[in-house]
Amino acid sequence: MTGPLIDPFARAIRYLRVSVTDRCDFRCVYCMSENMTFLPKKELLTLEELDRLSTTFIRMGVEKLRITGGEPLVRREIMTYFKAMSRHLESGALKELTLTTNGSQLARFADDLVAMGVRRVNVSLDTLDKAKFQKITRWGRLDQVLKGIEAAREAGLAVKINTVALKGENDDELFPLVDWCAAEGHDLTFIEVMPMGDMGEEDRLDQYWSLKDLRAQLAERYTITDLPDQTGGPARYVRLEESGQRIGFITPLTHNFCESCNRVRLTCTGELYMCLGQEDMADLRTPLRANPDDEALEAAIRAAIARKPKGHDFDYSRQRADGKMTRHMSHTGG
Ligand code: SAM
Ligand code: SF4
Repeated sequence: MTGPLIDPFARAIRYLRVSVTDRCDFRCVYCMSENMTFLPKKELLTLEELDRLSTTFIRMGVEKLRITGGEPLVRREIMTYFKAMSRHLESGALKELTLTTNGSQLARFADDLVAMGVRRVNVSLDTLDKAKFQKITRWGRLDQVLKGIEAAREAGLAVKINTVALKGENDDELFPLVDWCAAEGHDLTFIEVMPMGDMGEEDRLDQYWSLKDLRAQLAERYTITDLPDQTGGPARYVRLEESGQRIGFITPLTHNFCESCNRVRLTCTGELYMCLGQEDMADLRTPLRANPDDEALEAAIRAAIARKPKGHDFDYSRQRADGKMTRHMSHTGG
């Protein structure tokens, strides 16, 4: 039962995304409905259970952990979990501990995160316009997020901005966002909006701003060079020659990244999703809670990885309900 996690397509699983909560202090329109019903507390993995599960994955070859949610920094006592994971950085088993956050709590936690060995954070920010920010996030405040980003930088964290490309919302802000990131020294990645949750079919298609179009718009002002970076994920990178900036594009709807996919996703209830674009998952909470030792858990993880599919099913072009994911991003963690 030892040895690294290798799926049926010879991909070694090195990257685990862990959603530590389904709760959030924002209600972004593409992610949550305004009146979300959250899970009862007993459904959630405790911090000790999250530690045990993550530690098991690390023992089985996972080298990179990305903590996400919901909003990971609103989970009570979450620094206890980061502290627990930092021991794997110290032992060398874990190469990177990082998180994706909406930035609202960064001013509070930036120093602690650095102390736990975090070196980089992804902060989601779709607009620099106060009113638009509130419209998109419903409950968020732009100034609080900008303060959080500033605090992160002051604490020594590298910040990457993730921007969901939204037609009719931030398509007029392409250059202001690019220029702001250049001035502040942040990397920037655009994400194509995905058909998740309960957004109506019409909304999704209306909001869809293809990154191909976004790139063409960028090319009007910049010379774009493709970079060979291979992250194993859905991001592709380019360099803007005039500014030297690196810009990422995450196009989860295309299949070009599945071949090298080295990641799996754990939800806050202990479900393991082998592919962001498919519904198949494995319940790890039951073997975790049923057994004080990790043997059954390891067996369940291996059985799940043996089912990791070759690729996913998203497809806007078919515009059919069967290409739609019914779960929310806040559940799988994006
Ligand atoms: N709350 C944190 C945040 O917003 O960064 C972490 C969790 S959030 C679910 C992770 C990422 O998923 C964010 O960058 C968010 O913009 C993105 N996201 C959420 N719903 C999406 C959708 N329908 N399509 C594309 N990206 C989405
Ligand atoms: Fe919250 Fe992140 Fe979803 Fe926005 S994208 S509602 S910040 S979990």
